[in-house]
Formats: sequence, structure tokens, C-alpha cells
Amino acid sequence: MATYQNYVMAQSLEEAYALNQKKSSVIVAGNMWLRMCGLRRQTAIDLSGLGLDRVEETEDAFVIGAMTPLRALETHDALNRETGGAFAAALAPIVGTQLRNTATLGGSVYSRFGFSDVSTLLLALDAAVVLHHRGEVPLAVYQQEPWDRDILTHVRIPKGVRAGIVSVRQSKTDIPTLVCAAAMEPGGVRLVMGARPARAMIAAEGVDPDAPTAVFEEITQRVPLGGNLRASEAYRRKVAPVLLQRAARACVEGNHDD
Ligand SMILES: Cc1cc2nc3c(=O)[nH]c(=O)nc-3n(C[C@H](O)[C@H](O)[C@H](O)COP(=O)(O)OP(=O)(O)OC[C@H]3O[C@@H](n4cnc5c(N)ncnc54)[C@H](O)[C@@H]3O)c2cc1C
Repeated sequence: MATYQNYVMAQSLEEAYALNQKKSSVIVAGNMWLRMCGLRRQTAIDLSGLGLDRVEETEDAFVIGAMTPLRALETHDALNRETGGAFAAALAPIVGTQLRNTATLGGSVYSRFGFSDVSTLLLALDAAVVLHHRGEVPLAVYQQEPWDRDILTHVRIPKGVRAGIVSVRQSKTDIPTLVCAAAMEPGGVRLVMGARPARAMIAAEGVDPDAPTAVFEEITQRVPLGGNLRASEAYRRKVAPVLLQRAARACVEGNHDD
């Protein structure tokens, strides 16, 4: 259980940012992960009054507020239409509807979990994060950085990018053993691997989605993989080429329930 002495409903991003510069403060989003960490902090900062819980569309991008629940993305018509159903396919396997109604996009992206379905998909889609202090940063950069005290306000996803995503799990509601995503880009697909088990990373770009399995095997050889309680490195190396190939096909054909 997490314990907080003060609970502050931030009235502005400026106020939230200033409070968050103290090590004794923490941003609380869905609180689904934080509450399991046994954290003790002086001040919990709640961003839920700042209008960051919605998906906005511009001509060329979806701009998604950090407090948007995962379930809202899973069921968002335009996001799924544009990406070939990739949001529904990526998010539906995460625990259950109640958790996805509460866990937020910002909490997921900020945390950069080494098992994240969310970051794996967003990296494939070439997303960028918008930070209150630093401004816009490509997710591919943010993903490699240490946790900092800036506030993630939005995630920007370019429109018109189809993606495919597949994962393997030991049981239905478990965190993934391996996740692979692909997204269409000029000249082929971008391939991303997550739950390696480490932060998601781009495995290759410009790959022919119809390439033979040997090509996906060769790509897997270049990606650092490891072992943990869920699977050995050898297991991940064995299944990764198949998942990459399936993600590439799903990108072309749309995401299907197997
Ligand atoms: C039991 C369980 C199983 C899960 N399984 C999966 C899974 O299979 N796949 C998957 O992808 N994910 C999984 N998750 C992770 C989940 O999807 C969320 O990523 C996680 O709960 C964090 O989101 P939250 O809104 O609860 O964030 P919180 O727990 O509130 O916060 C998490 C961290 O993010 C920081 N933070 C939150 N919002 C911001 C912001 N706007 N700016 C800066 N920092 C911020 C917080 O300070 C904290 O450090 C699981 C989580 C749980 C609890």
C-alpha cells in the first residue's frame, strides 16, 4: 500500500510541476502501480482536474492526454480505425477491464516498464511524448532515459499509420513474456520488441512484411534478450521471429484474435 501525507488536486500544470520537483512528492495517476510499491511520500499530486483525460485529433495526429485511461484507447473508434485495430489488440490483454479503466496512458509511458505492451505499440507508431518543461520528445529517445521529475502531459501519435501487435503470456491476465509490434513506414515496416524483458526497443526498420522467416530470425539475433521468471533467453529467441512475422502480417491484414 502507498501512504501519502498530503493529497493535492493540482490547479495548473505549473503548480504540479513545482510541487513535483521535491523528492518527497509523487504524481499519482491511476495509482494502480504505485499502490503496489509500498511507497511513502509527503505529497501526492493529482492531475485529474487538468483536462488531460481525452483524445484530441488534429489534421495529422492524435494528441492524447496523459490521464486518459487505457480502456478509452482500447475502445476508441478513430484510433482503432487508423491503426488497423492495434490499440484494441495491444490493450485488451492487460489484466482486466477494471484495471484498464483506471490505469492511465501517462502512468504507463512514464514508467517505461520492461514488460509494457503500451510502450511497445507506441514506439512502433513513432509516437512522441509532450513534457511540461522540456516540450516534445520522440518516444524513442524518452524510452531510453532515466525517470525524471518532469510531467508528461500528452502523447502525440501520427495519423495514418497501421500497426500490428502480438504478445505471448503464460496465462491470460499475466504480464507478457514477449511482445512484438510492427508499423507501416515508407519502404517496409518498423519492428519493435518489448518484454525482452527490458524496455521496448526498435528491432529493425524498413522490413518487407512478406519477408521469409529467416529475415525475422536474423533480426532477432541482433536484439538483446534476457531471461527471467517467465521465460529463458533461449525461449524468447525461439518465439521472437514468429511473433515479429505475425506482427508484420497483422500490420498489413489488420489485427485478429487468434
Ligand atoms: C497488476 C498489474 C498488472 C499489469 N499488467 C500490465 C501488462 O500486462 N501490460 C502492460 O503494458 N502494463 C501492465 N500494467 C501496467 C499498467 O498498464 C499501468 O502502466 C500502470 O498501472 C501505471 O499506470 P497508472 O495510471 O496506474 O500509474 P501510477 O501507478 O499512478 O503511476 C506510475 C508512475 O508513473 C508516474 N506518473 C504517472 N503519470 C505521470 C505523468 N503524467 N507525468 C509524470 N509521471 C507520471 C507516477 O509518479 C509513478 O511513478 C500492470 C499493472 C498492474 C498494477
